Amino acid sequence: MSYTTWLREGNFIDGQWVGAESGATIDVINPATGEVIGTIPNAGDAETKRAIAAAEAAFPGFAAMDLMSRIGLLWKLHDALMDNQKDLAELLTVEMGKPLAEAMGEIAIGAQYVRWFAEEARRAKGEIVPAGVNGRRILVTHHPVGVVGMITPWNFPSSMLARKIGPALAVGCTVVAKPATATPYSGLAWAALAEEVGFPKGVVNVVTGSARKIAGAMMESPVVRKVTFTGSTEVGKELIRQSADTVKKVSMELGGNAPFIVFDDADLDKAVEGAMVSKFRNAGQTCVCANRMYVQSGVYEAFLAKLVEKTAALKVGNGLEPGVEQGPMIDVDAVEKVEEFIADATAKGGEIATGGARHGNGGSFFEPTVIKHATQDMMFAKEEIFGPLAPVFKFETEEEAIAMANDTEYGLACYAYTSDLARAFRLNEGLQYGMIGINSGLITTVEAPFGGVKESGMGKEGGSQGLTDYLDTKYVCIDGI
Ligand code: NAP
Repeated sequence: MSYTTWLREGNFIDGQWVGAESGATIDVINPATGEVIGTIPNAGDAETKRAIAAAEAAFPGFAAMDLMSRIGLLWKLHDALMDNQKDLAELLTVEMGKPLAEAMGEIAIGAQYVRWFAEEARRAKGEIVPAGVNGRRILVTHHPVGVVGMITPWNFPSSMLARKIGPALAVGCTVVAKPATATPYSGLAWAALAEEVGFPKGVVNVVTGSARKIAGAMMESPVVRKVTFTGSTEVGKELIRQSADTVKKVSMELGGNAPFIVFDDADLDKAVEGAMVSKFRNAGQTCVCANRMYVQSGVYEAFLAKLVEKTAALKVGNGLEPGVEQGPMIDVDAVEKVEEFIADATAKGGEIATGGARHGNGGSFFEPTVIKHATQDMMFAKEEIFGPLAPVFKFETEEEAIAMANDTEYGLACYAYTSDLARAFRLNEGLQYGMIGINSGLITTVEAPFGGVKESGMGKEGGSQGLTDYLDTKYVCIDGI
């Protein structure tokens, strides 16, 4: 057994593994070695339309399946993920670059999402509401939205689909998914696992290739009743515009610009530990990564010294090697973007405290980096870094920290370290973010609604809210009683 066990080089449409109609393929590259792992079909609108038709045909039967039969399939899917965790994690590391331990964690949380939504679907209760006049009864019931289009990014190629496929299947929706072109195999593995555990044909379809053509076919189809997207704010906005013509439901998990605030009264060791995991997990390529570290003046130097020491000690290398804590970045374009942030910051008075250059491994490896004396006029104060670069800003007062933290169009995750409970409540009320970690740098969990406000998106993934996003609500009025 190895990563090739779940590597599929075809698309999965209507229960069949197929190529693109044109026969065209795209190479998939291992970012750690530059080697070609395999190919995928370069599919477009024709294949997507076939997938949508298959999902449409499968929907009535799947939605009408006994709840416990459908839940049983999700339990099997959970078990298949965990039984194959190592092989799936290796596949993820080979195509994406993250350390194997992180990939193992990603497969495990994906399985947890499947289990969570299987549990939640059994509690998707309706309501009987008191009517205002005698002789009437008001019933509120929930129903699967129908065929769901899913578009996911490369940074969490397995778990971003788990948060969409899990609730969709749990309530009886059928799926047409398009994984990122850089990391398609973890997405195709979901189709292989669904096939293995016996989901009916047409329930799960996965198409790879041209983003514009595949997304275009999803967006223009009146059959696709919901599109759920995780990726950049720029593409998300485009999809929201496109959803207007068919008035589709959309869920958008978009970019972030997370502030990480450390107050004078914080437990500094805990704060540094949280900063490391929040910043350097996945080589800084997560939507909830600390993007801006705001540290109160009384502990600025002490926090910086501890952060620099730990950052300089990170082991960089191929994610498959034991002990590696930071893999390569996804590609050289991503490296160049980080270099641009550093050049901008140093031109405006920032100083490199550690790192700052391409790593000796070559390719898309980059040194874990800390910039001190960061200021609000630097590019990274406004833009998502998406790389292993931690800028450290100084602040004096709580009001100033909140104002700087909110000075962005994004509103996904934020973090604050303090031992003052009253302040924690003020932060909860003052910070304009969908998720707040108080004294924690790692907050994603299946039980909680993950999602942003402002231009970081709409809709939630996880929690009970993550299920209702896949349900339509109907009201029935029964008169003459
Ligand atoms: P991206 O460029 O927006 O791509 C995401 C997905 O959209 C990919 O499947 C991509 O396909 C597809 N896509 C690209 N252009 C498209 C278009 N014009 N129309 C329709 N689909 C299109 O984002 P990314 O670089 O992969 O991911 C990084 C971004 O995702 C960051 O901004 C990050 O913050 C965000 N993110 C957010 C969350 C969250 O939960 N809020 C989680 C993870 C990541 P191709 O791969 O074929 O180009």
